[in-house]
Amino acid sequence: MKRFAEIKAAHPSLFPETARVDCGEGWAGIVGSLLERIASTPGLAEMSHFRILSVRQDLGFMKIDAGYDGIYEDSLRPLFLLAEFRSRVTCEECGQPGHMRSTAGWKRCRCDEHSTPEEREQPPRPAWTLGRDTIKGFLWYDQAADELRLVDDLASIGMPAHMIERMARTRE
Ligand SMILES: [Zn+2]
Repeated sequence: MKRFAEIKAAHPSLFPETARVDCGEGWAGIVGSLLERIASTPGLAEMSHFRILSVRQDLGFMKIDAGYDGIYEDSLRPLFLLAEFRSRVTCEECGQPGHMRSTAGWKRCRCDEHSTPEEREQPPRPAWTLGRDTIKGFLWYDQAADELRLVDDLASIGMPAHMIERMARTRE
């Protein structure tokens, strides 16, 4: 398992030594993939002046705070969202597949091994919950394909009819 210190050492300008990390090491690999993607897109890192300020756990999933030139928002935002959704299905302790559990109101993403006996009983959330309504449509994390895609037919990802209706109303 890659650790945050290794990811920082590999990308010292994108993820400086001074950037705060307030989450488990299990998510370091997700940040590593994000930075590989940015570093391998010609010109993106240099022109956007991208750098990570902090990585933290919030409401059970990973949030990345980064500084960059706002005109690159359209290129960078989907990459942050992908990282966030990956953290919702990756154990924060060890990086193995996991899912969101809750204990006494606290949400955390854990594999079975790193769950308490009570958490182990909690099933994964339905697949359709790994998505977000955006101005372009419902952006869904297809876990099997490990990619984000816009979904028009919300029933096809298992979203219940009452949720589809509610979303249609908020879009009007
Ligand atoms: Zn684990």
